[in-house]
Amino acid sequence: MENNETTPPVQPAAPRPAGAPPMHRESSGPRRPGGPGRGRFAPRRKVCRLCAEHIDLVDYKQAQIVKTFCTDTGKMLSRRITGACAKHQRQIMRAVKINRNLSLMSYSG
Ligand SMILES: [Zn+2]
Repeated sequence: MENNETTPPVQPAAPRPAGAPPMHRESSGPRRPGGPGRGRFAPRRKVCRLCAEHIDLVDYKQAQIVKTFCTDTGKMLSRRITGACAKHQRQIMRAVKINRNLSLMSYSG
């Protein structure tokens, strides 16, 4: 006596119920293509203006050159802003101090 009845296909046990939210954990997704630290500022390397113009020695009498490395109030701008190299930044610093002493530039600031 054979009961060869075709059994209905057994539904495979679902790992998750259908209404469950999908696993969304993509912390390392394809974002920030340039990597951190890029895109906020222009990624351009500043070159020392005095080196570009082949000015070997900054003279304190060239006040118009020295003043371009200072603010209007007489504060010296940092190398990060001006992009001057260490050699020229030192010469500018000396020239500014001489010019302040000669009252060609202002101390205030
Ligand atoms: Zn330089």
